[in-house]
Amino acid sequence: MNRKHLGRNERLIIPSTTHLYKACLHTHSTVSDGEYSPEEIKRQYQAFGYSVVAFTDHEMLRRHDELADDSFLPLAGLENAFWSHRYDRHEPEPHDRVHLNLLATRPDVVAQPWLDARQYVRYARRKKGLPELDATPEELAIARQEPHIGEHPDKSRYFDAETVRALVREAEVAGFLVALNHPHWSHLSLSDADAIEGLWALEVYNRDSELTAEPGENDDFYDALLRGGKNPGLCCLATDDTHTSDHIGHGWVNIWADRLDHDSIIAALRAGHFHASTGPEFHEARLADGILSVKTSPCASVRVLDEKGRVEVQEGNAAPDTPRTEWTLVLDHNPSGYVRLVAEDGHGGKAWTNAVAIPCLSA
Ligand SMILES: [Zn+2]
Ligand SMILES: [Zn+2]
Repeated sequence: MNRKHLGRNERLIIPSTTHLYKACLHTHSTVSDGEYSPEEIKRQYQAFGYSVVAFTDHEMLRRHDELADDSFLPLAGLENAFWSHRYDRHEPEPHDRVHLNLLATRPDVVAQPWLDARQYVRYARRKKGLPELDATPEELAIARQEPHIGEHPDKSRYFDAETVRALVREAEVAGFLVALNHPHWSHLSLSDADAIEGLWALEVYNRDSELTAEPGENDDFYDALLRGGKNPGLCCLATDDTHTSDHIGHGWVNIWADRLDHDSIIAALRAGHFHASTGPEFHEARLADGILSVKTSPCASVRVLDEKGRVEVQEGNAAPDTPRTEWTLVLDHNPSGYVRLVAEDGHGGKAWTNAVAIPCLSA
């Protein structure tokens, strides 16, 4: 990962490094509606070789710093839900709503931007095996002792794009990286999503969505938002959205960072120093003078995309009979706007790089 050795026309997409940390950045524990306690989530993910788990319970920021050790870093976060402007309040089970994942960027971030006191009471009652009835004033008063900056906006009203943009800004000011979760599951249109600004990342894969009737992949949204230009440097995530054992170990990111500590991992996430995967891995990728050199785990194909769509490859991209690990792709023309790679292992597994901006390769 030595950028100073890059040539003028060279773009490093994935560095060669051994400092890799496997991470799940979207999980729900018994703090909200997950099956497992935070301790059990740590145990299960460590068994799959993960070093980082972000605890993102619904509407509730809880730090689990006591779970940190030399081989494991817990990140604090939460998932917030807002109705989208497409929400029809008369549908029996609506889920046209914007879900934002918030990751705290500093250990001293303990207050969530918005508190949904009624939801807090629901989860508290569920934990005690009590019916999730309307909250009493006493219960709401206890809920409001949770550290927070403001009340969750009224969920019974619509949230237009301008409001969602304001919420993203509020979360950033409060010290969070903000990702847009599972847009297909949320029934967002491409233009709904493109109206949001200031996102750090987008889920290109969500395991929980895959287990429902909705597509688990959101690749089309990634290109739409990158082309839209309102979210510069937008990254892509694969996540489990863990609630039960069916979710664990299906979507992750590999982070490259100097070491496994909070500041290093957050800096790497902010900078996009990771790739998303549901199986294969990128080991190295660089673009120089129209030639893309890529190393992967055994894969059947590597696709190159830019803001105009798939980039034509003159040679090197023919599907081989046997999986390959080294790829030299001679591009037909320089990519426009950005370049990103998607590798497929031929067994349903994919890996996605973050998009790397290509300001003007031929200059
Ligand atoms: Zn969600
Ligand atoms: Zn979730």
